[in-house]
Amino acid sequence: MIHINTIEEWRALAAQLRSSGQTVGLVPTMGALHEGHGSLIRRAVDDGAVPIVTIFVNPRQFNDASDLAAYPRDEAPDLANCEAWGAAAVVTPSVHEMWPTTPTATTVSVTGVTERFEGAGRPGHFDGVASVVTKLFAINGPARAYFGEKDFQQLAMVRRLNDDLSLGMTIVGCPIVRDEDGLALSSRNVLLDAEGRHVALGFSRGLREATEQPRSAGDVRAVVRASLESSGIDVAYAEVVDPLSLEPVTPEYAGTARVLLAGVVQGVRLIDNGDVTIVSSEGE
Ligand code: AMP
Repeated sequence: MIHINTIEEWRALAAQLRSSGQTVGLVPTMGALHEGHGSLIRRAVDDGAVPIVTIFVNPRQFNDASDLAAYPRDEAPDLANCEAWGAAAVVTPSVHEMWPTTPTATTVSVTGVTERFEGAGRPGHFDGVASVVTKLFAINGPARAYFGEKDFQQLAMVRRLNDDLSLGMTIVGCPIVRDEDGLALSSRNVLLDAEGRHVALGFSRGLREATEQPRSAGDVRAVVRASLESSGIDVAYAEVVDPLSLEPVTPEYAGTARVLLAGVVQGVRLIDNGDVTIVSSEGE
């Protein structure tokens, strides 16, 4: 496995792979890697792509300086894990390498899918993500790019960004990897103690309760919110949305939808989401 720090070396590697007929499988991450990240790398391998993992804690997507300072970083185990999961190369650029001239004058902004939910709770977050993802895609060149459904709104935004700007990537969304107890794997989970972890299980319990019997959108919203609150999660949002537009579904809606959840546990903002089949509330 190759370890690269500079944009120049990465661009040259990607170009060389492309010219030899290989497809890069780009896996953008912020490090503190776990099996969720591993699933993206393994999926790239299964697809016959050459996995290039980027590890970059992008300051531009943090609206809260203390959140950025607390974000876990541990390069040595990350590199060992990437190798074990089958990465061909890992790119760990410095902040200066990625954003040499600050404040950066160029911002990429995707409207529509970004305004609610994480966008409302974290001003500037999605502009930071869209800007860095555009830069990663521009450096690497056309490739497959792997993103987790864990960050469902981010995935929707990246798909839109790629389509609108014809960036030439094939965006692959991968299912959420969970611990045995149901907690969605997240780099932020290490910031929770045993009690916080127990509280955070309210997310997966809420999703389970939402799907255990057919319910209307309103019922799902109420059941999930009650589950989160009774667990002790400080709820940011609990909404039932159209999986493509991320617009909240109408009370009459029937069919597949996505439940999006966010809340704070021990000062740590956590998100989760899952599929749900909605029955119409008409006639209730
Ligand atoms: P992050 O390092 O948190 O920015 O995440 C990097 C990529 O890994 C994103 O595409 C995430 O959606 C994805 N990811 C993070 N956690 C999980 C998980 N539990 N299951 C699947 N993908 C994940």
